[in-house]
Amino acid sequence: MDFVVSGTIHKRTKVCGRKNCRCAVDPAARHGPYYEWSRRQEGRLFHSIVTPEQAEVLSRAIHNYREIKQLLARWELYVPLETRGYLPLLYSKLENTQS
Ligand SMILES: [Zn+2]
Repeated sequence: MDFVVSGTIHKRTKVCGRKNCRCAVDPAARHGPYYEWSRRQEGRLFHSIVTPEQAEVLSRAIHNYREIKQLLARWELYVPLETRGYLPLLYSKLENTQS
């Protein structure tokens, strides 16, 4: 696991707006594809156009992010079941690192 980022990658095609361009009538002639990375940061939504290469790296990083979130949710569920053994173990580790 190398990079971890949140957000989504969308593959988009665009209409340029010129009336005589083929993209105006033919959906298959639309421009692109363009890759857009959307993510939320401090409550605000950000969009960036990225290259296909960047989109590939970001897709992997987003996959990693989701995997970590799933693991966290699973671990969080398991912890209460093991609290009796878990907390004393955690405290003993903390004491060991402080001395
Ligand atoms: Zn066009």
